[in-house]
Amino acid sequence: MQLIWFRQDLRVQDNTALWHATQAGPCIAFVAISPEQWALHDDAPIKVDFYLRQLQSLKIQLDNLNIPLIIQHIPLWNEIPQALLQLAQQLNIKTLHANIELGLNELKRDAATQQLLENTNIPLELYHDRTLFPVGSIRNKTQQPYKVFSAFKKNCYEQLIISLPQCYPAIEAQTPLSAHPLFTTSHCQLEDFVPAHVTDEQRVLWPISETYAVTLLDQFLNDKVEYYQQERDFPNLDSTSRLAAYLNIGILSIRQTIQGLFRLQQGHFHIDNLGQQTWLDELIWREFYQHILFDFPQVSKHQPFKINTNNIQWRDAAQDLHAWQQGQTGIPIVDAGMRQLLATGWMHNRVRMITAMFLCKNLLIDWRLGEQWFMQHLIDGDLSANNGGWQWCASTGTDSVPYFRIFNPVSQSQRFDASGDYIRQWVPELAHLDAKQIHEPYAKDKNLHLNYPQPIADLKQTRIRALEAFKAI
Ligand SMILES: Cc1cc2nc3c(=O)[nH]c(=O)nc-3n(C[C@H](O)[C@H](O)[C@H](O)COP(=O)(O)OP(=O)(O)OC[C@H]3O[C@@H](n4cnc5c(N)ncnc54)[C@H](O)[C@@H]3O)c2cc1C
Repeated sequence: MQLIWFRQDLRVQDNTALWHATQAGPCIAFVAISPEQWALHDDAPIKVDFYLRQLQSLKIQLDNLNIPLIIQHIPLWNEIPQALLQLAQQLNIKTLHANIELGLNELKRDAATQQLLENTNIPLELYHDRTLFPVGSIRNKTQQPYKVFSAFKKNCYEQLIISLPQCYPAIEAQTPLSAHPLFTTSHCQLEDFVPAHVTDEQRVLWPISETYAVTLLDQFLNDKVEYYQQERDFPNLDSTSRLAAYLNIGILSIRQTIQGLFRLQQGHFHIDNLGQQTWLDELIWREFYQHILFDFPQVSKHQPFKINTNNIQWRDAAQDLHAWQQGQTGIPIVDAGMRQLLATGWMHNRVRMITAMFLCKNLLIDWRLGEQWFMQHLIDGDLSANNGGWQWCASTGTDSVPYFRIFNPVSQSQRFDASGDYIRQWVPELAHLDAKQIHEPYAKDKNLHLNYPQPIADLKQTRIRALEAFKAI
């Protein structure tokens, strides 16, 4: 009997570990519900809710394949090796299969499981699944990991030209297994773990199921990818794929995504338009940050990539941090983004950059506090991409923006939300202002009566303060 252990890969289509497990013999599936561990990782309630909803959908898919799914409540991962050993022995498991996960705690959990199970001759087979190319395989001429995106991307393009990663064939239903008490008795009720405060309005924004994710991908590729390069930076347009949440918990695989992107080229690497290329580059940014996480695990331990940036004198400014978190900074584009995050669990990429840079440059608040807040609220929260995005904005990361290139949020707003419609949607107090005034409502008249805060930071002065803080190190 084979045991397939699902983690951040909740799908039956094109799942490397599931494919190998089913090829080796009859299968049983396992998932651990670990709310305490998820809380330690700052997983957002909306993301946990999304995960639990998809788990129900996965169970139905597995039922159709006659693969029983055992769901156990194991609060912390350090209890997983023992629980899995017990389960494997009770079910007479020959091999345990799972897809590799890259965070430090994930690697530790898997190493401990592997060690414990090996003592009883039950191997844990781990597969590369989450990335286009196995971590550790994209190397420069001296066999070192890349630290710069453009060189990493060039290497990825070369690999893609040789061959695009292929999807695994569909899995056929297995012969039903004889009933085992564990298939029913060890189950926990998923409803018991649904986080409070996630609303149905939020759930509607993020439907689950593999079919939905594939449809979302198809719609994006049919209708939007061609215009992606021109439109992706405008937060008022619905021009990006919104697939990150689906890729992150594995409802969709990265191979399905890349095969979809090149479907009109019959699965060969051939770039037809700038939109397609720009979107591919975003997928490679995702790839880059996952490889960074593997090669430089300090980023998983709250350490900056550039160690000397630990010497920056961040401000201890609880009130400013709170205003930023709640979308009450008095800088409309920043507040719009922060409120979009609270309301929907998602924020447009351009606005993620603007809000992040405002926090760590203008407010000079430690990027790790922003990283944590994003993780606690994003439905697509992912350690590698979130950390990479934050360290890029804070100029502490691998290939980050130079410290002296500080976005001015008002100019960004005028450029990327020229009509002010994005601000109007999320900051209704300003909805009546015209396209000129809305980006900086108090610019001409500080005594204007608006039910909206005055800016908490003077953009010019705080820019100079940030430059000095960075120069000082
Ligand atoms: C401060 C900050 C924090 C971020 N936190 C996260 C996070 O926790 N999780 C996350 O998945 N992305 C994160 N990003 C990257 C990016 O903002 C999101 O991936 C994107 O907005 C998701 O929307 P989408 O699926 O419509 O993306 P699309 O524009 O359609 O892009 C396609 C896919 O490419 C990947 N991608 C796009 N941009 C990036 C990027 N800059 N870095 C890595 N991957 C990228 C995502 O998987 C995305 O789904 C962050 C960016 C910043 C600046």
